[in-house]
Amino acid sequence: ITPTGDPSLRTLGSRIFEPNVLKKDFPILSEPVRGKRLVWLDNAATTQKPRAVIDRLSFFYEHENSNIHRAAHTLAAKATDAYEAARETVRRFINAPSARDIVFVRGTTEGINLVAQSWGRRNVREGDEIVITWLEHHANIVPWQQLCSEKGARLRVAPVDDRGQVILEEYEKLLGPRTRLVSFTQVSNALGTITPAVDMIDMAHRHGAVVLLDGAQAVSHMPVDVQALGCDFFVFSGHKVFAPTGIGAVFGRAELLEAMPPWQGGGNMIQDVTFERTTYQPPPARFEAGTGNIADAVGLGAALDWLTRVGVHNVERYEHELLEYGTNALLAVPGLTLIGTAPQKAGVLSFVLDGKKTEEVGGLLDQEGIAVRSGHHCAQPILRRFGLEATVRASLAPYNTCEDIDALARALHRLQTGR
Ligand code: PLP
Repeated sequence: ITPTGDPSLRTLGSRIFEPNVLKKDFPILSEPVRGKRLVWLDNAATTQKPRAVIDRLSFFYEHENSNIHRAAHTLAAKATDAYEAARETVRRFINAPSARDIVFVRGTTEGINLVAQSWGRRNVREGDEIVITWLEHHANIVPWQQLCSEKGARLRVAPVDDRGQVILEEYEKLLGPRTRLVSFTQVSNALGTITPAVDMIDMAHRHGAVVLLDGAQAVSHMPVDVQALGCDFFVFSGHKVFAPTGIGAVFGRAELLEAMPPWQGGGNMIQDVTFERTTYQPPPARFEAGTGNIADAVGLGAALDWLTRVGVHNVERYEHELLEYGTNALLAVPGLTLIGTAPQKAGVLSFVLDGKKTEEVGGLLDQEGIAVRSGHHCAQPILRRFGLEATVRASLAPYNTCEDIDALARALHRLQTGR
């Protein structure tokens, strides 16, 4: 199989979608590692940054840098315009109804904590229930555990089957009149499972629950439309979608955001302050206390524009073929077991090798210039569901090629057979 063999994957307007061409947009991918060509297969941890993003950051600091929303001077206006334009780009990228529904945060973790501490503290009471799934990243477990223990609420967890998919009938059984919130991932970072988000959201809504969708692993792999999904909150991290670290976004339905109290206090988020009483800005400013990550928000806008030019649909189709190619290549490695074999998957090949520790595999691959993640991927419960404490995880981006997969498979073969 050659992922570029399908002619429909090749053309994109006038631009050629060819991963080897795309790769050239990413300076770090020409950086030798241990004297070898870098094979970056740790995209679920973080993605590399295209020249368009790196240049946009330099441009911001060279020509636009200022604090925002405050001063009357020219650079403040330029920086504010760039920051607010990035918010509009995020809105468009996930098809939110309004840029006022988009709150900038440091990333998915901070976004989930914002919802837990603001919406959660106001709306969750003793005896209420919060439903998550076994697939969740620690960032979508711990904030809810903290909220539940503060409020005397109960955390309930929907199980997954042996292939790593949520068992819908079991999930539905957990929903009831006490369910206040359902929070789950659209794509599992540890296994790659794509959850049936639309069905799960519908079921939760039928029981009157609010739904948060963790989009950290979805945004770089598939088109996201928060209105079509119907979720109430959607959270993602910029660094997993070719943008800088330290920036991400929360989408919240307007009625929910408007009714939510601030979660941090300080500058930017107030309308008026006296020692007796403070009034707050409407969303999103209400949730953006202090000086935010202005340049990186602008960088996030540049990353989403870059991905839009490449075409998220093209990426989705290409990566699907690459994942199939990778699955077949890895299954041919003696003693390799793939963990997570759901029919709907995106971007992740998680595996263990007979007789080898995962750190050992990661270290040996590094010597070949191949970067993968070995460990628990901040998702200990789902690995334990499969009787494991760690896996090796190769995760994909549109700049990966069959050659990258072949290099990985060859190295694993050598490791297992000595040849
Ligand atoms: N949720 C999922 C599914 C993730 O994969 C990650 C990061 O790996 C997170 C949440 C947390 O993201 P961040 O560390 O960028 O806040």
